[in-house]
Amino acid sequence: MTDAASRPAPPAPPVPLSRVQADAVRRGDLPPVEEVRHGVWSVAFEFGDGIDDHSLGYVVEGSDGALTVIDPGWGVDANLDRLEQALSDVDHALADVELIAVTHLHADHLGGAEALRRASGARIALHAAEQAALADRPADAAAADADIARWGAPAEDQEALVASWGSGRHLPAVAADLLLADGDVLPITGRKLRAVHTPGHTAGHLCFVEPEQRLVFTGDHVLPRINPGIGLGGRTPTNPLSDYLASLERMVALDVPGPDALEVCPGHEYRFTGLRERAEALIAHRTDRSRDAAAALDALDRPTVWQVAERMSWSGGIASLHGYRLGSALAQTGWHVQALGRAGELRPA
Ligand SMILES: [Zn+2]
Repeated sequence: MTDAASRPAPPAPPVPLSRVQADAVRRGDLPPVEEVRHGVWSVAFEFGDGIDDHSLGYVVEGSDGALTVIDPGWGVDANLDRLEQALSDVDHALADVELIAVTHLHADHLGGAEALRRASGARIALHAAEQAALADRPADAAAADADIARWGAPAEDQEALVASWGSGRHLPAVAADLLLADGDVLPITGRKLRAVHTPGHTAGHLCFVEPEQRLVFTGDHVLPRINPGIGLGGRTPTNPLSDYLASLERMVALDVPGPDALEVCPGHEYRFTGLRERAEALIAHRTDRSRDAAAALDALDRPTVWQVAERMSWSGGIASLHGYRLGSALAQTGWHVQALGRAGELRPA
């Protein structure tokens, strides 16, 4: 069993820099457009598929007036309308958008890219590993089905797992115009917005940092309160958990304490400072989970991934998780076991 009760309480979440964004999370509605800096705005986008949630995208203006949109949100018509209205409020139009820079391949970030490209003529930029993951979807889905069969989850969960985690799962199909690599500077006149490859949440996840403006756009790599899932897009020869921890260490190294601390512009929730502390808290959270997994392996003889997961601490408990969230929890359990070097102790398929 987990000894969560005896552990020190996790540090308090970072204080919001945007009160309206934090209030919107609490109320479950969309915050208004905010000016983050001169020529940088945040725009909230609704989810599709009847999911009651929202993501945060950002509009960045170059010195020539051309716009870059970071993460245009889910691909529903209302989001394109919302962006058009936001741009018109600051004397811009969709036609001014020349670049769509996407942190990662999930529907709530990349989903609206194709419609925005059509409406504006902008180019879509992604990390090369993200584009490869989109191309590998059929093989990925087959491998996910094989995982589901091996995990040993209850029979009543199997169908929803395949539909949401395995071969039934859908990702947006997009061909990028520009493939990004770590260290690339985005083609925005008068700015030095640099891509930082932060694999873990997905294989080609990118953050974008502009130190001169003290800004970092973190997508789903670092969020103020949510613990991001890992390995949620694209199989890699590496362990996504190990990748994620290394990518968090990069955030720790990127931030500077004091008045020059970076302002974090995440893909959900609210803006904050304290990137270093938040990244360290996420590392500590993962270390706790690894300890849970090790204790479960010590206590059980040839367990399934499900049996290990049952003994780890999940918010609400493993029994409360179904479909995609259950798939994510079980995949994470498998990577924790692998990262411990103890995959051989699991029950063979
Ligand atoms: Zn997201």
